[in-house]
This record gives sequence, structure tokens and C-alpha cells, in this order.
Amino acid sequence: MKIYKFPRGGIVFEDSTVPPRDKSVIAFLPVLAVVPLIQHSGGKALPLVNVGDQVQEGMLIARRQSPESANIHAPIPGTVIQGVSWEAEDGFSNEALVIRLGGAFEKLGKPRKEFHWEDLKPFALQQLLGEYGVVEMEPPGRPLADLLGPLYSRDSDEPAALVVRCVFDDPWLAGDYALCRDRAKDIAEGACIVCHSAQINRLVFAVSHREYDLGSRLLEEAGSFGIPGTLVAVSSRYPQKNPRELQFALREYEKKEGQTLGSLLILSPATLAGAYDAIKLKKPVLERYIGVGGSAVKNPQVMRVRIGTRLKDLFAECGGFVDEPQRVILGSPLSGRRIASLDEPVVKTSFAAAALLEPQTGGTVMRKCIACGECRQVCPAALDPESLFKGIQQGRTSAAAECHGCGCCDLACPSRLPLSKVIQIGAIHGKTR
Ligand code: SF4
Ligand code: SF4
Repeated sequence: MKIYKFPRGGIVFEDSTVPPRDKSVIAFLPVLAVVPLIQHSGGKALPLVNVGDQVQEGMLIARRQSPESANIHAPIPGTVIQGVSWEAEDGFSNEALVIRLGGAFEKLGKPRKEFHWEDLKPFALQQLLGEYGVVEMEPPGRPLADLLGPLYSRDSDEPAALVVRCVFDDPWLAGDYALCRDRAKDIAEGACIVCHSAQINRLVFAVSHREYDLGSRLLEEAGSFGIPGTLVAVSSRYPQKNPRELQFALREYEKKEGQTLGSLLILSPATLAGAYDAIKLKKPVLERYIGVGGSAVKNPQVMRVRIGTRLKDLFAECGGFVDEPQRVILGSPLSGRRIASLDEPVVKTSFAAAALLEPQTGGTVMRKCIACGECRQVCPAALDPESLFKGIQQGRTSAAAECHGCGCCDLACPSRLPLSKVIQIGAIHGKTR
């Protein structure tokens, strides 16, 4: 098997505190759902309900109102009891509607009704994906319909490929793995729906070489929809799944195999399951597979969780903490966002939640740089994290824009310097100057 990979840097990322990925459990329905009006990198949705209003499961409760914002639906039936707002440690602020569970479910426990999509025009599919609030289900999480529009408008003879990214270079993607295993057929059909929505004529399953069998199963499932599909084995070295590193591997594949893939639209399995739910089941994004774990958690597990479930409820369902966590991260410890309160909820772009004790966080004591060069060795973007870090502290931000925040330098640094965090902040300041 030929394995395609990115050219430099990266790390083999292993973590014994992630949940086992070969089994998932359905989390309890939240008694209170905290439903943010921003659930991806775009703008805020406009609330359509007020405190005291009754909402049904799947009802539109906030409408997209600006470019890159997305519709939000009620994950549970009940009553809107309050609006809340908060600011996270990194300055990120958000607002949410809080729903208290009550009343009957419209979708949960009802027989599954499937709809035909094959005769729908691409534009109609794009509109439905927008209406049901489907976004890329991992940060940054742009609305899917916004990604499809430009591809649909390309010249008809210009090739394009949808890349289904089944790259498990980060063990915190345990939720995505469990989703692929549980819903391979739906993901394959979701991929064909997306191809049809943007007149994409080629399907590529980019799969970590260790998960080749899973890729074969997805390819086989997609076979019945008449879109040529290919399986490309890529490395499991982190950050192989990042767009830049994955594109590099796929361009290598093009060269070596004499193939032309053209423009690439790279989507995660969770995004394609969301597209399937929206079009085939007429169901908005209401839940997410999440890997819940970390050294502070008693029983790490992969859970199917309603959007809006508070992290404290998730951790409680995993048996609680063995000790007070020093840090709680939404996402992977390598690239996720540190949260300030366990009242923060699961959103569309959440794929993991990690509660960490001190040995895993590396402690809070930063030491001086010892000029070992480890950070340069692992940087896949060929940057010098040490000089960037020092430069940003002196106000020089220009080169920071090249950093894609993979976190490899943090993991490699023996002095535990917060390299990627400082470089990312520098990149944001550089852009706003
Ligand atoms: S500098 Fe940026 S791109 Fe390079 S290793 Fe650090 S986080 Fe990754
Ligand atoms: S890895 Fe850390 S200690 Fe080593 S050169 Fe980079 S910043 Fe300095």
C-alpha cells in the first residue's frame, strides 16, 4: 500500500487517556440545554424565540443573519427559561438560549422517514443544507452551503473532488471514528449528496493507512450512487488531517498516479452525516459524537450527545472526576479551546471534551527556552516557533499568519512554553492591524 504524507515535521500523538473508540453510548437527554447563538467561527444567529416560549425538538430558534452565520434549532423540546452570555478565557464571547426539557419529542424515538433527494437540483440541496443549519462539524466550522456555492459556480469542465477526511492522526478523534463505524452508509450517502449539490464528479476517501478497512467499507457503500470513488491511504502522523497537510498528500497522489483531482473540498465524516440527516431525514443538526476523557475523568467514553448539553453533565455521566481538573478543553488538548466554566455546552463543532490533571497539562511552571530546536523540528509549516514566540512578545507579528495552530511545538517544547497559543494571538493581532 502506498502511503501519502506531508513533507516535514509533525508528531506521533498518542494519549492513553482518550476514550475507547470501538464503542459509543447515548448520553442522557439534558434537563437544561444551553444553545449558543454562535456554534462555529461565523457570526451570531438572530434569536426567533423569547423567554417563556415553548419550543419543539428541531424547531428553528435562531436564524442566520449575516454572512457565515448559520441557523440554530432546538435540540430538545421545552421552555426557553433565560438568555445567558459569557466570555471565555481567550476573549471569545457568546450568547445562548437556555431550554428546560419538557413536552413530547418530534423526532427522537419516531420511525425513521427517508426522503428521496436524487431529483433535487443542486441549488435546492444547498438551500436545504442552509435551512437545516449544517456547518463543517469541526473548527472553524463554516456553513456547508457557503462552501458549496463557489464550487457549483466553477466552469463545467473544471475538475473537482470531494475529499472525505477519515484521518485519525489525533486520538481525540475517537468520536469521529465511532461515527464512521456506526454510520458508514449514511456518511457515504451524505458524501454523494454533497457531490450532487456542487456538481462534483469525483469522491476521494482519504483514510489513515491504519484504518484502511474502514475506508474500503465507505468506498463500497458509496459505490451504488454512480460517482467514481477512490481510496487514498495517508499517514497517521499528526497533523495529517489539517487541510494544508492533507492537500499536500493528495497532490503527491495526483503526481504519482497521473490523476487530476482539481479543486478539493475536504469535509469530515461528521459533516457528511449532518448533510445526510438534513436532506435524507429532514432533520437539523441536533447531536454530536464526542470523545469525553482525560486524566481527570473516571470513565472516559465516546458519547452521542445533544447539542447544548453542558460539559458538567457529560463529565458526571462519565463517573465524574478523580480529582479537580487543572484544565478543561473543548476539542483536542493539542488544538482545542480552554474553557472557563463547566456550564459551557457542546456545540455543532465539538468533537471532544478533555479534563486534565497536572501531569497531563505539563504543569503551570514555564521555564526558559533552552534553544534545543525541538519546536523547529516538528513544525509542519517550516516555521521557527521559538523566534516567533520571542518576536511576538516584542510586537513583531508578521510571520505568525503562517501558523495553523497545530500545537506540535507545544508538545515538543521541554520548557513547556505556550508557543502555539502566543503565536496564534500574534496572528490575530497581525491581521487586525
Ligand atoms: S508554529 Fe504553528 S504550525 Fe508550527 S508547530 Fe507551532 S502551532 Fe504548529
Ligand atoms: S522547543 Fe522550547 S526550549 Fe526548545 S528551542 Fe523551542 S521554544 Fe526553546
